[in-house]
Amino acid sequence: MANKIHVEIITPGRTVLSDDFSMVVVRALDGEMGILADHLPLIASLQEWPVKLKTDDECVRYVSVSGGFMEVRDNRITILATAAELPEEIDAKRAEAAKERASARLTDEQYDHMRSETALRRAAGRLKTLEMANIH
Ligand code: ATP
Repeated sequence: MANKIHVEIITPGRTVLSDDFSMVVVRALDGEMGILADHLPLIASLQEWPVKLKTDDECVRYVSVSGGFMEVRDNRITILATAAELPEEIDAKRAEAAKERASARLTDEQYDHMRSETALRRAAGRLKTLEMANIH
C-alpha cells in the first residue's frame, strides 16, 4: 500500500478510528509534527489537541485526542489515549461547561491546579476540534 499510513486511534473502551490516510498531523509535547508514509519509527506524547488526517483526495478529517501516546512504525500509526472523539460525537455544550468549570477551579485554591489545567486543555481541545471540523 504505497504512500498510505494506517491509523488507529484507540481508547480504553473502543477503537475510535481505523483507516488509511496520506498524511497525519499531531501536536506532540514539543510541537506540531506532520507524518507521511515511510516515516522513521517514533514514539511521542501528544497534547490535548485535534489530530488532522488527510486522504489522497485532500479530504481532511479531525479527531479530538485527549493526550496519550503515538507510535509510528511500518506505515502504521497507533494513538492510545484516555479519551478521543470524532467531531460529530462531541457535545459542544458539555465541553463549554467543562471549560468554564476548569477555568473557575484554576483560581480556587481548594482544587488541584494541575488537574484543572489538564481538564481545561481537554475541553479546549474538543472545542478546537469542532472549530477545525467546522461544526458549531
Ligand atoms: P467532563 O467534565 O465533561 O466529563 P472530561 O474532560 O472530564 O469532561 P474525560 O474524562 O476526558 O471528560 O472523558 C470521559 C468520557 O466522556 C470519555 O469517553 C470522553 O470521550 C467523553 N467526553 C468528555 N467530554 C465530552 C464531550 N464534550 N462530548 C462528548 N464526549 C465527551
